[in-house]
Order: sequence, then structure tokens, then C-alpha cells
Amino acid sequence: MIRAGTAADAAFRAEVRGWLEASLAPELRNLTFRPEPAQVMPWYRALAERGWIAPHWPREFGGMGASAVQQVILAEEQARIGAPDIPTQGLNHIGPLLMREGTAEQKALHLPRILNGDAVWCQGYSEPGAGSDLAAVQTRGVPDGDEVVITGHKIWTTWGHNAQWMYALVRTERGASKKQGITFILIDLTTPGILRRPIRTIAGDDEFCEVFFDGVRVPRSNVVGEPGDGWRVATALLAEERIRIGSPLHALRALARLRAVLRERGLAEQAEWRRRLARAEIAAETVTAAFLDVHERFERGRFGQGRGGEGESSYLKILATETTQEILDLAQEAAGPLRAAMVPPEGGEGRVDYSEMFLQSRRLSIYGGSNEIQRSILAGRVLGLQGKA
Ligand SMILES: Cc1cc2nc3c(=O)[nH]c(=O)nc-3n(C[C@H](O)[C@H](O)[C@H](O)COP(=O)(O)OP(=O)(O)OC[C@H]3O[C@@H](n4cnc5c(N)ncnc54)[C@H](O)[C@@H]3O)c2cc1C
Repeated sequence: MIRAGTAADAAFRAEVRGWLEASLAPELRNLTFRPEPAQVMPWYRALAERGWIAPHWPREFGGMGASAVQQVILAEEQARIGAPDIPTQGLNHIGPLLMREGTAEQKALHLPRILNGDAVWCQGYSEPGAGSDLAAVQTRGVPDGDEVVITGHKIWTTWGHNAQWMYALVRTERGASKKQGITFILIDLTTPGILRRPIRTIAGDDEFCEVFFDGVRVPRSNVVGEPGDGWRVATALLAEERIRIGSPLHALRALARLRAVLRERGLAEQAEWRRRLARAEIAAETVTAAFLDVHERFERGRFGQGRGGEGESSYLKILATETTQEILDLAQEAAGPLRAAMVPPEGGEGRVDYSEMFLQSRRLSIYGGSNEIQRSILAGRVLGLQGKA
């Protein structure tokens, strides 16, 4: 837990803790999965009404304008009480991007609806033939008067079947290189011609889906940036996305899970497990320190355009996600013979599912660009080693 800080930070922590204790329904605490929209969106709206849904957004756009330390305090307190996962594509990805790149109309239409939960967003980047090689996107966008007509297939779209809007990459021209001719566009998912098909994951949920577009007509005014300049816009969003994935929240939640498993299995007082828990706590603190450092420089705009910036967000993504996975690996080990249990034990208190968080955590090193690709970015673009990143 963050120890340094002002009296105001301490007061803020007390305020957050008290409000969370009073406001978060017991059935939404310590879940090992993201609840369905009907369950989680009331919680999202409660955070919005309290003014804490977008700590990292500037006040001028309706955010909290919180310092990095306050953001960590919020993450720590949410992890402490076991607050559920909320949809973050609007808050963490497209919202901040629109603040920088959106037109006045786009900002006015979308930002308030992200904040109040009326619009859930999803990301339409990946395609069956374009994952790590994202510039290989094939979904076509054909300009036609005031519209762009979209035809193609997106995949691994987190919460796509629960979202109202998607930000997507479509190919509007064949450029000299793959990175040219891509356009970043906002799609209302109620537009005719869109089919969404959920995909079941290894953890047994349907967190993501495939999205098929068949001649979907989208206003040209929904393009963000210039037509054909989508690669630049997309990678700017990815840098922000990786910093948010690097929030200590995941590692702190994993730590809470590890502590719970140790208690449940009667291992909490064993010397070896105490030592391993202490190491896990230090690892989680390291993520917090790295987040504070990277976040501070990101906010000051010292990177973002340059190569160092890309390296910082890649480094933080690797550190945060692999630390979380390591802590959950420990929790699995501590679960012992119960580790394969997929259902809460009979008569158990609350939902005790030993394997679900572990299975969920496998995704962390894949989404937002796999950690192998992040290492290639560090090697090639930051360290200047040979090879393509
Ligand atoms: C839970 C989850 C949620 C997701 N949500 C979204 C979403 O909302 N929207 C969206 O657009 N996408 C989403 N994705 C997709 C994600 O961005 C891709 O899965 C990821 O970029 C990897 O692409 P791929 O699956 O096509 O794997 P591939 O690119 O086929 O890679 C397969 C393996 O090969 C490795 N590899 C590939 N190329 C290289 C290379 N050049 N050097 C070294 N190793 C390499 C990769 O690291 C990986 O381990 C999500 C993925 C997951 C798991």
C-alpha cells in the first residue's frame, strides 16, 4: 500500500474506504469474473454519480482530475474490498483519445455518455488475420458520399455483444505500406448489417465476441483524425491502453485472492507461505511504483510522440501483467487439490472458485498486444537491437 502521501491523500483514502464499504453490495464483492451488464452497470453508475468513475480524466471533460497517487489509492481500496471489474474501453481507451483527437461534436456526443454509462464501448482492432500484425487489417471501408461503407470481420472483441459503440480500424485505401490507408472510425453498433457472435473463453465466460460487418453505412463524420491516418491514431490509443493495463489494480486483486486462498487452506501462518506472500506483496508494490513513475511522465507529456514513450508503456504492461500472473500462479499452487475446482464448494461462503482468476489471468499477457510483441518493441525501438518490432 502506498505509504507516502499528504494528509489530504490520507483523508481521501478514508473517504473512499468509507464510501465503498457503505455503497458496494456484498454480492458484487470478491467476484472472480466480470459480472453481466445488468449486474455491474448500476455499480458503474454509482461510481459515476460519486464522481469517481474517471479518476484519470481532466475535470474539463467531467473527470476527477486525480493525481497518480489518488488513482493508486482508489485502485488499492477497490482491490481491498473486492470491487468488480467494470467495462473500461470507454474510460481508458476511446475517451482519452477523443479528448486529444476528437472533433468538438465527437467529444460532446460521446464523453458524457461514457461517463454516465449510457454507452459501453468495444475495440474493433483484431481480425482473424490481424492480431500481432495489426497493420494487416482487411475490413474494408469504402467512402460513399457522406458515408463509409464497412464490410469485414473483427474478432476477440471484448464485451462487443454488450456494447453500444465500437471504435475500429478499417482499410480505406491500399497504401504503399500496410500502415498507410487505415482509417480509425466510430461505429454505432445498432446500425443495420452488423452481426455479433459471442466466443466462450477457457474460463467459461463469453467475455468477447466476433463482429461481422456487411455493407454497414457509417457517417464520415465518425472518422477520428484524418482518413488514412488511422495507424497513428490506433497506436496513440494503444500507448494509453497499455498504461491503464499497467494499473496496480490487477496485481492487488491477485494479492487479495492469494491471501484468501492461504486463509481458506489454513496456510496463512506457515513460514514458507508467509515468505512467498511477502515476496508477492513486494512485487505488487513494484508495479505500483512503476505505474506512478510512468503515469507521471505520461501526464506531463514527456513522451507519447517519441520512442521512449512506447517503451515505457510496453515495459509497464509486461511488468504489471506478469506480476499478476505470478501471484495467481502462487494462489493456484496454494489451492492444492482444489485448484481444478470450477464451482463454489457446497456450503461454502460466497463464491469460492479456485481456478477462475487464474484462468482469467492468462489473457493479460495477450490483450493490448501480446507481451512477446511488447518485448520486441523494447528490443527494437528502445534498445536499438536488430530485427523488426
Ligand atoms: C481476453 C482478450 C481480450 C481481447 N480483447 C480485444 C478487443 O477488445 N479488441 C481487439 O481488437 N482485440 C482484442 N484481443 C485480441 C488481442 O489484441 C490479440 O489476441 C493479440 O494482439 C494477439 O493477436 P493474435 O491473437 O492474432 O495472436 P497472433 O498474432 O497469431 O500471435 C500468436 C502468438 O505468436 C506470438 N507472435 C506473433 N507475432 C510475433 C512476432 N513478430 N514476434 C514474436 N512473437 C510473435 C504472439 O506473441 C502470440 O504468442 C483480445 C485478446 C484477448 C486474449
